[in-house]
Amino acid sequence: DTSMKPIRATLFPGDGIGPEIAESVKQVFSSAEVPIEWEEHFVGDKVDPRTESFLTWESLESVRRNRVGLKGPMATPIGKGHRSLNLTLRKELGLYANVRPCYSLSGYKTRYDNVNLVTIRENTEGEYSGLEHQVVRGVVESLKIITRQASLRVAEYAFHYAKTNGRERVSAIHKANIMRKTDGLFLKCCREVAEKYPEITYEEVIIDNCCMMLTKNPSLFDVLVMPNLYGDIISDLCAGLIGGLGLTPSCNIGEGGIALAEAVHGSAPDIAGKNLANPTALLLSSVMMLRHLGLNDKADRIHNAVLETIAEGKYRTGDLGGSASTTDFTKAICDHL
Ligand code: NAD
Repeated sequence: DTSMKPIRATLFPGDGIGPEIAESVKQVFSSAEVPIEWEEHFVGDKVDPRTESFLTWESLESVRRNRVGLKGPMATPIGKGHRSLNLTLRKELGLYANVRPCYSLSGYKTRYDNVNLVTIRENTEGEYSGLEHQVVRGVVESLKIITRQASLRVAEYAFHYAKTNGRERVSAIHKANIMRKTDGLFLKCCREVAEKYPEITYEEVIIDNCCMMLTKNPSLFDVLVMPNLYGDIISDLCAGLIGGLGLTPSCNIGEGGIALAEAVHGSAPDIAGKNLANPTALLLSSVMMLRHLGLNDKADRIHNAVLETIAEGKYRTGDLGGSASTTDFTKAICDHL
């Protein structure tokens, strides 16, 4: 393993608690002897005209070149004349699917112990197309765009993911009984793709019923695929089922096989710089990145070390009811490795 040629990956430590939890990932990777060489890029302090945002052109080039990266939370500076950081990343890198696995962590008790599902959110269109206007005074209109191309692409990714990750079922989440044309087209595309994967069970679930089922018995679900707005809401609901944002990883899939893993939470300005942040979400995101690269042995080792440390309960960060610092918790994980 150690003789392997290192793989280059882009690292955005991000803002707030970002640099502290990114440091934790770097330490854990070094203890586990992961053959990754990080190319670190920070968010700039002025707008780069080539990206129209605080993200530098060089940092985007780095992701395009490496095809793989890890991103900490980014706080978009307030003001006019620039694009939001997350929107810039999504647009510039064509990040079309957001993949969020949610599974019960052994040793961390929540109301549910049997969650093991993955939400896959279409990330480029739907209600988030940014097409809103006033028709006349007192009447506004927002356009929900659903295209065959984007729907097929995300459905294809969901079935491919199910097949390559030993999953058995894909549920398309929709409201096609009311949004006949838009969600209707989304479902039609999912059905077309489903036919190419006869080994995967395919079902369609209306979003309101889906919410009820998820809160009553989350083990009813395996892989869920859905348009943008539904995905935004359902993926946070699912994060809540397993203990919240400090624990939940995600990965964005982009054009040409780009993978940019990121924690779901924000920059947590209230605890930034205090050595209090829980690095679990970013660590589990880095595990997703390793699996994307096929480094499954390393991914398993880190994943198990994180879970064992949490289960042991001796070193837990404040958000999980403990009193350990970020560095104590990280050290405990390294000791497990
Ligand atoms: P947040 O997720 O930063 O914080 C919400 C609460 O959760 C806070 O009390 C925080 O202390 C806690 N928390 C979050 N992550 C934690 C962790 N790893 N360990 C321990 N506690 C944790 O949400 P917010 O306060 O609404 O947003 C703060 C900033 O982050 C904003 O500028 C927002 O735009 C940005 N943000 C960025 C992303 C992203 O980059 N993907 C996502 C969400 C928010």
